[in-house]
Amino acid sequence: MHPMDFEYVSSPTLSDAVRQYTRFAQLGKRPMYFGGGTEIITLGRLHQVNPDAVIDLKPIPETQVMAVQQGQLVLGGSITLTQITDAPWLGEAFPLLQETVHEIADRTARNKITIAGNICGTIFYREAVLPFLVCDSKVRTYGPKRGKERSIHRVFNREARLEPSEFIVQLVTDETARTAPFVHIKRRKAGRVGYPIVSAAAIRIDDRIRIAFSGVCPFPFRSSAIETILRQRGLTVRQRVDQAIQRIPSHLILDDYEASRAYRTFVLANVLEEILQRLGGA
Ligand SMILES: Cc1cc2nc3c(=O)[nH]c(=O)nc-3n(C[C@H](O)[C@H](O)[C@H](O)COP(=O)(O)OP(=O)(O)OC[C@H]3O[C@@H](n4cnc5c(N)ncnc54)[C@H](O)[C@@H]3O)c2cc1C
Repeated sequence: MHPMDFEYVSSPTLSDAVRQYTRFAQLGKRPMYFGGGTEIITLGRLHQVNPDAVIDLKPIPETQVMAVQQGQLVLGGSITLTQITDAPWLGEAFPLLQETVHEIADRTARNKITIAGNICGTIFYREAVLPFLVCDSKVRTYGPKRGKERSIHRVFNREARLEPSEFIVQLVTDETARTAPFVHIKRRKAGRVGYPIVSAAAIRIDDRIRIAFSGVCPFPFRSSAIETILRQRGLTVRQRVDQAIQRIPSHLILDDYEASRAYRTFVLANVLEEILQRLGGA
């Protein structure tokens, strides 16, 4: 069978999407939810994903919401990265998110890539999740047990943790966190487009720095141990940075065609130092 030979259905409502997913699964087919489709098409061509059917979530109105409701920013999972970068008001409402997603892929790909697709993708960088991790955002999902709202830390641990027919509907972020002083730094092997050697998103809130990383390990993460070390007084910045890096098991630090483990560690140290300087933690 041709790798791209799958059935396409588009869902108009939350419950229809789950119904379609369940129907395909009961017929013994492999269904997948479909956001921008960039990864499904790219990995499909490489035979790394092979759905029998895809269910497009973009027509569902709840997944297209972009609004501030009682101080909370609600972003639908089907919003594309370009919609985020091109909304001037988001530059005030969630500048860290805007800066972070602006560095993902190139504009042509960002026109298609959705926030939920990035967060739930197989390609492990998932950089769009970083701002939501540091802001302790909430995730609204829909699945067989209907709608749920949970902390991002329960829904995402290295990768999205969803039930088979469950999908991301919206991400919800409080004002205090999303408007806090922030830094995003992405270092690549070369140029202005490409996967990160290190991508880090940080905010300063309640006099503490919160920080999440992509590109360091084969999954994005936020570590309370690292955050605790970074705010220790009585140590130089360099000592804090070195101790923070020691908290990452070295075998988990990527060693690949983008960068060797040693070089990635060196870049990470510089990124951490710069974040401490810029957020006033030095
Ligand atoms: C040219 C290019 C450059 C890239 N550069 C970067 C980069 O610099 N940094 C980075 O982090 N990533 C990068 N990526 C990876 C990209 O962000 C992911 O592949 C992402 O999955 C694509 O989003 P999509 O909306 O097209 O996903 P899709 O292909 O539609 O879906 C991807 C996966 O997410 C699932 N999914 C989609 N929507 C939902 C939902 N609402 N709920 C639950 N599951 C869902 C699908 O079932 C599928 O498993 C790049 C990709 C490309 C093609």
